[in-house]
Amino acid sequence: LNALLSATGTTVFTVMSALAVQHGSINLGQGFPDYEGPEDVVKAAADALLDNRNQYPPMTGLPELRQAVADANRRFYGLTIDPATEVVVTSGATEALTACLMAVLNPGDEVVLFEPLYDTYLPVIRMLGAVPKLVRLTPPKWELPRDALAAAFGPKTKAVLLNTPLNPASKVFTAAELAFIADLLQRHDAYAVCDEVYEHLTFDGWKHIPLMTLPGMRGRCMRVGSAGKTFSLTGWKVGYVTCDASLAPNVAKAHQLLTFTTPPNLQRAVAVGLNKDDSYFESLSAELQAKRDRLAAGLEKLGFGVLEARGSYFITADFSPLGFSGDDVAFCRHITEAAKVTAIPVSAFYDNPADAPKHYARFAFCKNDAVLDEALSRLAAWK
Ligand code: PMP
Ligand code: GLN
Repeated sequence: LNALLSATGTTVFTVMSALAVQHGSINLGQGFPDYEGPEDVVKAAADALLDNRNQYPPMTGLPELRQAVADANRRFYGLTIDPATEVVVTSGATEALTACLMAVLNPGDEVVLFEPLYDTYLPVIRMLGAVPKLVRLTPPKWELPRDALAAAFGPKTKAVLLNTPLNPASKVFTAAELAFIADLLQRHDAYAVCDEVYEHLTFDGWKHIPLMTLPGMRGRCMRVGSAGKTFSLTGWKVGYVTCDASLAPNVAKAHQLLTFTTPPNLQRAVAVGLNKDDSYFESLSAELQAKRDRLAAGLEKLGFGVLEARGSYFITADFSPLGFSGDDVAFCRHITEAAKVTAIPVSAFYDNPADAPKHYARFAFCKNDAVLDEALSRLAAWK
């Protein structure tokens, strides 16, 4: 058996969701909305299913979706993208990220990435025979440690993997931080895999800036988006990569090996979604911001130390003021069983959970208001 896979545990999201079901707990762990995405997008998929859109589509994606991705790049970020040669549609951002890493990495190459991090990155990098170089962001502010980042780059650096807005820290990288990263990429002639699945989920006037828009970055960045996040349809697993025509053929070949194509009916619907007018994207973030505020205020009232959340679906909360004696894994299990509310231990987002911060839990707020309120009253009753 493959040793790396054998050593990879079942993802914390699956483990905690199963525990939530087992205990009849409200699941604020795994990040998925408990409400449906836009009706016109869902209907477009249903129509496409009945319209004989059910055979293999073109390998790099339906032309109408590639065009919609290119148009969205122009509308939101001023990027000029050729839909024929610079967009690859994938089965979720998860596949897109793996395809981008496959596109550029050779065994022995080094990849710089930030902790806390999403759980798919490290196993894939290691399976490709590449070597992760981890740089830690530190709560509560999660600022870029510039010296540590510069020190992580070296002659073997092939790429950086950057997730902004960042899951679970809900940090949105600033223009100055991105400029610092861009400078290192240029000096080391390296690529960037940009996990931007939460690009449209930012709050309080924080704007997502793709690294790809910075000077010199157009040819170095592979920018990954997710229809699951942008349209609150996480089960759809439609992702898209935007990158220079010099990189796209390798991304496409990786996609060819991994899944080859992505369901055409869903692709057609996602094109409808990406073409929606600005008001959709504005209300998406405004509605989530109100949910964030609702949950954050409630957790604060209960005594949690709630960290600032500038983007994504998640709040990180320090539970140590509550006087719980165990670590974050114990805390998340305990509240699932005793309060019937589930969260994710933040140490799960570290390569070595043993030396990670152990007093933070991640709560997803992409839930109906009544569900958030019920979760808060359960926590109040438990406390
Ligand atoms: N990256 C991050 C940071 C995520 O939180 C997620 C979770 N959905 C993904 C990638 C995967 O996205 P998808 O469901 O489109 O594969
Ligand atoms: N991205 C989601 C989260 O962070 C979960 C996706 C998954 O279950 N793998 O909660």
